[in-house]
Amino acid sequence: MKAVYLTGHGGNEVVAIGERPMPVRQPGEVLVRLHAATLNRVDLYMRDSGAGITHTLPQVMGIDGAGVVEAVDDGAVLQVGQRVLLYPGVTCGHCEFCLRGDEVLCTTMKLLGEHRDGTMAEYISVPARNAVPMPDGWSFEEAAALGVNHLTAWRMLMTQARLKPWETVLIFGIGGGVSLAGLQLAKAMGARVIVTSREQDKLDRALALGADAAICSTTHDVAKEVMRLTGKRGVDVVFENVGAAVWDAALRSLVRGGRIVTCGATTGDQPGADLRRVFIRQLQIYGSTLGNLSELHDLARLCAQHNLRPVMDRVYSMDEAHAALDRLASGEQFGKVAVRIGD
Ligand SMILES: [Zn+2]
Repeated sequence: MKAVYLTGHGGNEVVAIGERPMPVRQPGEVLVRLHAATLNRVDLYMRDSGAGITHTLPQVMGIDGAGVVEAVDDGAVLQVGQRVLLYPGVTCGHCEFCLRGDEVLCTTMKLLGEHRDGTMAEYISVPARNAVPMPDGWSFEEAAALGVNHLTAWRMLMTQARLKPWETVLIFGIGGGVSLAGLQLAKAMGARVIVTSREQDKLDRALALGADAAICSTTHDVAKEVMRLTGKRGVDVVFENVGAAVWDAALRSLVRGGRIVTCGATTGDQPGADLRRVFIRQLQIYGSTLGNLSELHDLARLCAQHNLRPVMDRVYSMDEAHAALDRLASGEQFGKVAVRIGD
């Protein structure tokens, strides 16, 4: 089968496009003929380093994906021909975290495209529970995008920060997949959303998508602007995956007792944190990554009900995988960079 796979680490030279062996479906698994995957920051990390992630090369890239069920056990809930999107974590099912339904914390979770072959291939075989029915009428590219970015944003807002409809959320660095998903989900919840970016063009597009206010972080002090926009109160929730560059502004933007939820550290993972501000103002800090399978099912239902579709940037063919990775690395994208698989 045709696949995009890693032969080493360090730039696009190690990203090969060619033949890999067909996966062999095991009992309890579903064989999916993939039609799309979207790119995530972790794909760049795996390409460039992969340090600290147990894996063996060559390995197929891609953490999220969507396609059609090709084969499954007799009597399974899924049907051959059904359109599905994938949950990227393969978990043990019996550790204390799996048993309490928090399998995202599973100590032995293996992620597609990180610890095992991923989704940028014509076929993949995964445990049947990892395949979730797609919302009706969606493209495979849109459906693929739910499994990582939207799931991450869902857990950050709904499960960790427990955003309420009457609250205000500040989203740093609008334009990336997770921050746009956060904007869409927070608006679907009825909350007020303030976004930041260094680029006016991205702010304009976020406003068109429903953001209530936008702050250009190259021309404005974000925290001061947040205080002006909130009547000197501050926001209830900060949603961020930028890291060190925004941490100070994030803490200064929060209302007393406010929550900050983080899922990334693109600009550095060792920010200075004003601990006096954290304890005197009783700020709450949440870490979050990915989400549970049950959260993905809930998310898919909400998206179907609200016809809330991921924002797509560009779609590339498998043969254009290098250009797709470059597009993500450039930071110029607005929404998801996708790879179409097959015709
Ligand atoms: Zn487990």
